[in-house]
Amino acid sequence: MDKYLILHYGELALKGGNKEHFQKTLRNDLIRKLRLIDVKSGVDLVLSRFVVKMPADYDEGQVYEMMMNVPGIENFGFYYRCELDFDKICEVLKETWPFELVAERGYKTFCVRVKKSQENLPFDRLESEKKFGACLLKNDIGLKVKMDDADIIVNVEIFGEKAYVCYEKFKGLGGLPAGTGGNVLALISKGFDSPVAAFRMMKRGAKVHFIHFSGQPYTKREETEHVKDLVKILARFQSDTKLFIIPFGEIQKKISLNLKVPAGLRILIYRRLMFRIAEKMARYIGAKALVTGESFAQVASQTLNNLVAVDESTNMLVLRPLIGNNKVDIVNESKKIGTHDISALPCTDTCSLFSPKSPELSAKIEDVLKVEEDINMQELRDDAFKGREKVMFE
Ligand code: ATP
Ligand code: MG
Repeated sequence: MDKYLILHYGELALKGGNKEHFQKTLRNDLIRKLRLIDVKSGVDLVLSRFVVKMPADYDEGQVYEMMMNVPGIENFGFYYRCELDFDKICEVLKETWPFELVAERGYKTFCVRVKKSQENLPFDRLESEKKFGACLLKNDIGLKVKMDDADIIVNVEIFGEKAYVCYEKFKGLGGLPAGTGGNVLALISKGFDSPVAAFRMMKRGAKVHFIHFSGQPYTKREETEHVKDLVKILARFQSDTKLFIIPFGEIQKKISLNLKVPAGLRILIYRRLMFRIAEKMARYIGAKALVTGESFAQVASQTLNNLVAVDESTNMLVLRPLIGNNKVDIVNESKKIGTHDISALPCTDTCSLFSPKSPELSAKIEDVLKVEEDINMQELRDDAFKGREKVMFE
């Protein structure tokens, strides 16, 4: 029997005049992602959901994995389809009942939920739920009916003059369709935080490009490779992702050797310079905001005063999606995204490179500005910008 992938979107339904643009973007993203796994079927928009006829030889696990990467999808499932006829639906239920799944998971109870997206249909919802339930019971499925909190819900959805049956619905990423929110530039390091921050922005529909400051030649080559691997994972959620790598090791060394820069302020100066280079890069690629993985008071550079001191270095909007999050929650989220294992690898952090043992926790902005008078920040910025390397991800 043919199978259909049906996907529901959520929030974009609220977007009024923009709705069509959001639907179109989401549809294109679905087409593109399905093609990546060789599913070349059309994607139809039918009464506020997307319907895709699956090819005969499709791999359900692979389609599932891919659909979990689509921002804007609330839920989805694989459905059987039949004519809008009571006996035919009963027949489908009989023929397709998932004995294996039920046995594997030890399910004991079930209920039928009928959803009609059109009025003037031949079925009364409650009445037909009961009838379809009875039909299944007659088929010796070995489960009891339970109206609330049943182990398995049999979804019968009726729309577009057809009936669709699904035994398992998956919760999607949610959020908004990829790229509908404009371009931003995320500062990414190998740690746990910045990849999660970038992911959160992607989920909200921002198109995220990346900039990484590499400590090379004073950090190991692998660190940059790890960052590329992280971006590769994140790039799955959108298309045409750019990563810029800025050689930063020599600059840090230069600043650390400058006797006019008090050791305690070094990290702040590095970070202020990173922000300036990032701002220049953002303007260059047409990104309207920067994104960081900063979280309030997590480390020395993220105390209130230090955040203020770093933020002062740029005129650009800086988005900090993790500002109120605890580290454990961030690490758990990285597991779901798939960036955890790379972030957990040991490395020399660029920020700890040439860093003092006890950095200033509460820098005064006046002191920082005074120190910067003796450093040619603009020249450092422009030289670093020129030295960029660009890596593209499909
Ligand atoms: P992360 O877990 O993302 O590495 P962190 O807890 O180590 O963050 P910091 O090192 O203070 O905190 O960095 C704060 C933010 O600054 C990072 O989340 C990232 O956005 C940015 N950042 C830090 N180091 C780099 C780097 N080498 N290249 C690009 N961005 C960086
Ligand atoms: Mg870090």
